[in-house]
Amino acid sequence: MREFPRPRILLSRCIEVEPCRYNGVKIDSPLIAALRPHVEMIPVCPEMEIGLGVPRDPLRLVASGGEIRLIQPATGRDLTEEMIRFTASFVDALDLLDGIVLKARSPSCGPRGVDIFPSVEAESAASRGRGIFSASLLKRFSDVALAEEGQLGDPAFSDHFLTRLFTLADFRELRLHESGRNLLQFHAENKYILTLYNQKEYHGLTDLVVNRNERSFDAVIREYRTRLYAMLSRRPSAKAHLSVFRRAAEHLIPHAERVEQEAIEETIERFGRGDLPLHEARRRFMNWIEEFDEDYLAHQTYFRPYPDALAAVFT
Ligand code: SF4
Repeated sequence: MREFPRPRILLSRCIEVEPCRYNGVKIDSPLIAALRPHVEMIPVCPEMEIGLGVPRDPLRLVASGGEIRLIQPATGRDLTEEMIRFTASFVDALDLLDGIVLKARSPSCGPRGVDIFPSVEAESAASRGRGIFSASLLKRFSDVALAEEGQLGDPAFSDHFLTRLFTLADFRELRLHESGRNLLQFHAENKYILTLYNQKEYHGLTDLVVNRNERSFDAVIREYRTRLYAMLSRRPSAKAHLSVFRRAAEHLIPHAERVEQEAIEETIERFGRGDLPLHEARRRFMNWIEEFDEDYLAHQTYFRPYPDALAAVFT
């Protein structure tokens, strides 16, 4: 059975942790609730950290003199400097992160599409951007697994986010314990995940780990990290998953009786038509892998990219 790493996640505190939104509300997220026992969570509410209470008058971003200011229209308070000061010291003190989950559209936490108003009184936004806190945070941690809370309701996105999160954490632990584990092993066990995301880049990484030449382990792992983080940033297509299932089937078919061969082919066909969810197709493959004792596929992280309890939340 696979042993999972423990990812480090920074989280907007109002998501599942505490009712600290301006209106005293907490956002329920079944996936974050299920994730808590499996990760190290760093919840933060930047607006509470700068001394605002709950409930509070809402804030907004206002474009003024070529700058973006954080204003509380009801009181006229300009909280930009406080937020910039808090953010700088908080982000500076963070070392390792594998993932970030942020509240959408918040003037502090929103990672994109946050309303920017032309004036304090304006009724509609003139442009959109990032919250003040998230802008600095995402500048420093630009390549970790990122989700807005609303995206976690989409099963395909959640699968991508969790796969990325646990793969990056696995790689980080490999770096921390580089003498105990082997980069080649990581590369081999993640072959299906890597080819899912980018087949060409998988071959490039194979070349990097196999032909180290005179390069130090440190130099190789640094380059591997950069390329790995970049390749996992784009959500894979259903077609890419289909291609992984087809390759896995080539390993299973020789072990299978006729009736099982037909079931494997039917699973691939139904998944390809969009009639079978990814998690169900993956679960069936996992059953066949166990039934046929298929050792090579059993070691592929693709079939169990994150703890089963998490998949159960959105399937
Ligand atoms: S969005 Fe950010 S600042 Fe607003 S309540 Fe949530 S954690 Fe606090």
